[in-house]
Amino acid sequence: MRDDTRSVTRVSVSLEGYDSLTVPIHRASTIRYPDAASFAARFERSADGYVYGLYGTPTHRYLEKKITELQEGARTVLVPSGQAAVTCSILALVATGERVLIPDTVYGPVRDFATHELAALGIEAVFYDPLDLRALDSLINVRTRLVWTESPGSITLEMQDIPAIVLMAHAKGALVGCDNTWATPLNFRPIRHGVDIVAEALSKHFSGHSDLVLGSITTRDEALGLKLKACLGRLGIGTSPDDCVLLARGIETLTVRLERSNASALQIAPWLAGHPCVEMVIHPALPGNPGHEIWKRDFSGACGVFTFTLKEQYADRAFVALDSLQLISIGASWGGTKSLIAPSSVKALRTVRPWTGPDYLFRLSVGLEHPDDLKDDLTRFFAALTESERIEPRTAVGG
Ligand SMILES: *Cc1c(COP(=O)(O)O)cnc(C)c1O
Repeated sequence: MRDDTRSVTRVSVSLEGYDSLTVPIHRASTIRYPDAASFAARFERSADGYVYGLYGTPTHRYLEKKITELQEGARTVLVPSGQAAVTCSILALVATGERVLIPDTVYGPVRDFATHELAALGIEAVFYDPLDLRALDSLINVRTRLVWTESPGSITLEMQDIPAIVLMAHAKGALVGCDNTWATPLNFRPIRHGVDIVAEALSKHFSGHSDLVLGSITTRDEALGLKLKACLGRLGIGTSPDDCVLLARGIETLTVRLERSNASALQIAPWLAGHPCVEMVIHPALPGNPGHEIWKRDFSGACGVFTFTLKEQYADRAFVALDSLQLISIGASWGGTKSLIAPSSVKALRTVRPWTGPDYLFRLSVGLEHPDDLKDDLTRFFAALTESERIEPRTAVGG
């Protein structure tokens, strides 16, 4: 064998005695077949078998199986983002001439997708008030294929009555999908409550380190899962095994990260609620919040993501004051180790249930820093907001 040939041929390595605790990264486009007949019959391989890199390697199978287990579902498909988890669910299940119902409080880019792509495809997307079950019921007609839910809703955190929506939709032959990103299956298991299809933005709590973008779709039954898998394969949608391994690592610490950020948030949220600059704190796990009863009934816990608003007289200085934060970063996404704040305007994003509160809401994603350091940072923010006290910058924070 010449050197150039030798350079590209594979040598086999013994795996005997190698039993690591890690999830191996299997990268592949090509899968080799032992003979021509098995190549010819490759599409008869099982849905969990291996055909081509796009359709998954053992790394993908590991993550699919792990997420399926956490969701208590039948099958999971991985997609390149949380946004794709929502859009692909709708595209795979709803046909031209059919209707999909979408909560007014849906993750913003999903609304854009509805007005652009779904409209162009002749799929009727109707937005509904997430809290008005009677109005929702009247919108479910014979052409309604899917009722999408997201609970709590994006930014304003309205809690939907998922079991009631499931009953309503199933009675009329419609499927129910749920964007479960805020809760993760550790705090809410939509499939236990009858939901047919669960989307997760894995980029958030699951990955947990703000370093990748990935999504998952888990179905309650096998047939629906196979339908999605086939559709996504035809669309050419796949994910990187490197991202999947990082994600699998993130899952190992998901419970402790969620517990810690939730506990910190439950210290910070009431403290914020009592602050003279703050008008309102929205956090479903706080007694007295509008969605609290549903949260208590259906969810087993919360995360560190919640929203607050400022009293009107501080609105003008809010952006300048945000710039005084030293530990909490300004940025989108959430669920990472580092705390984030995102000033968000939702007025233009609500067409059915108008937002009547202040223009700007401040969504906090509480990370793993000590809650007292986060309070110190927020104290800086309030000081800048009121200009009444001067707090010397602390050293050795952030980084
Ligand atoms: C972030 C988010 C998404 C989108 O996830 P990406 O991975 O960033 O595309 C979808 N739904 C909800 C509720 C989200 O918060």
